[in-house]
Amino acid sequence: MKVLKFGGSSVAHAENIRKVVEIIDTSCGSDRAIVVVSACGKTTNQLLELPDLSLSKAEEALTLISSVIERHTSYARDLLSHEKQRAYDEVLKSADTALRKIVNGISLLEEATPRAKDYIASIGEQLSSHLLTHALQEAGHTAAQQDARSFIIALPPYENGVVQRQKSYSLIQDAFSEASGFASGIRVVPGFIAATPEGHTITLGRGGSDYTAALIGAALSASCIEIWTDVDGLMTADPNRVPRAFCQQEVTYEEAMELSHFGARVIYPPTIQPAIEAAIPIYIKNTFNPTWPGSRIHHSVSDARTVTGISSISEVALIRIQGSGMVGVTGISGRVFGALAQEGVSAILITQASSEHTICFAVLPAHADAAVNVLKREFEFELYRRHIDEPIVEHSLSIVSVVGEHMRNRTGIAARTFTALSANGVNVVAIAQGSSERNISAVIPQQGEEKALRALHEEFFFPERRFINVFLCGTGLIGTALLKQIAAHTDALAQEHHHDIRIIGVSNSRSMYMDETGIGIDAISSTLERNGTPADFDEFLRYMAQSTVPNK
Ligand code: ASP
Ligand code: MG
Repeated sequence: MKVLKFGGSSVAHAENIRKVVEIIDTSCGSDRAIVVVSACGKTTNQLLELPDLSLSKAEEALTLISSVIERHTSYARDLLSHEKQRAYDEVLKSADTALRKIVNGISLLEEATPRAKDYIASIGEQLSSHLLTHALQEAGHTAAQQDARSFIIALPPYENGVVQRQKSYSLIQDAFSEASGFASGIRVVPGFIAATPEGHTITLGRGGSDYTAALIGAALSASCIEIWTDVDGLMTADPNRVPRAFCQQEVTYEEAMELSHFGARVIYPPTIQPAIEAAIPIYIKNTFNPTWPGSRIHHSVSDARTVTGISSISEVALIRIQGSGMVGVTGISGRVFGALAQEGVSAILITQASSEHTICFAVLPAHADAAVNVLKREFEFELYRRHIDEPIVEHSLSIVSVVGEHMRNRTGIAARTFTALSANGVNVVAIAQGSSERNISAVIPQQGEEKALRALHEEFFFPERRFINVFLCGTGLIGTALLKQIAAHTDALAQEHHHDIRIIGVSNSRSMYMDETGIGIDAISSTLERNGTPADFDEFLRYMAQSTVPNK
């Protein structure tokens, strides 16, 4: 049996919900399946505005409730027959009543408790799960909604409930057993929500629907979990910054966790933990491109590639503590990280050279001051005695990481990483590689981040064809002769040296033109004439300096 999870954007409009129904048709056929669903589109965000609004502007809160209800009504009108619409109207009516009561309660008491907030947030998934159930029935499926609060039990804190795994697993097994009547068809489960042992509604934290799917999949030893979202899968890099990034079709659990740092976060590591423990394969699939295979996440991959992806954290601060009093003294690092932990500061990357003279670590910029202050307090005595110097903070840095399961026991990956960075003029401030050898991370100046990402991506994913990016000033006698020579050597350079000379900027005395994807050599003069802007040498130089393409 499969577990399918559809994210918010997959059920954001009636049209998308129709796509979801089709996907369930093709993916499940006549097999039993459990479908976990998020709230439609941005419903959760809207609902989470209600508690504050109820305290200050109760009228606006009521308007917001109406707009949430109306949106769902219009989806239903689009998707369902009159009869089904009436049934769904009942669901909407009771949600509406409940939300209005809570808003009144909050504004009367002038207090929005976390428990009230969770109850409000839970409405989104309740509405989407009933809607999808009706839409499936409309399409001829035997489908029923089954409320997660009857089988996922979690303890407070509210807004981030702690799931009682064993208890929930056995409740899930009962709820979906054949004996309980689930012999065929589809069960639709609202993601994100659970109940406390006392029966109060609690949520599992933002993005918690993945967690719901993983828990159900693990409890039932599902054949796989399909996470349907709005991207093609796990990418080799953030496609917004690395134009040649592509989807990796096979990724290990560990790689997926390493790669989920950046941009469009496809999965949130803690939420898939139950699936990892139960060794259930996870597929990342695109609702809007359903025939694309997506990414399969499992224990191992058949692909022999060494590097799986390049990720980055765009802004970090690096904090260094050093001093002669640290050499050979035990307990320094324990105290450093103990103090940070007490302050609630997480260290993103840590390095200590074997001289033991310095320890440095990266934190989010917002944590830098707190980290320095807590270290000053912790090492007050050593600072006073000058055994340790004042902590030093460097800002405006990024971390870029090369990630891959098969980097382990391979030589040369670090060499290629740092050669690519240095060849592109990116200075490395600090380095970390854990002994799992799955991740090599470099701290670099923030302005070099995009160039570093692209250079590393070229190095590891397109080594067979490396672009040499050329800016050309002057298209007269000499410039034209040079272009002819480049054109004449294109094949030989590609075949014998795996190099591809690409003109990405060109200027003559009248006009200039830039295009990072390359300008056809034969069309240079016509491109200049047609698309060029008036020549401006300073501007040209500035563009050259700022361009983040590698191998310029
Ligand atoms: N609807 C919830 C959220 O937006 C849970 C989820 O989508 O996974 O965080
Ligand atoms: Mg969501």
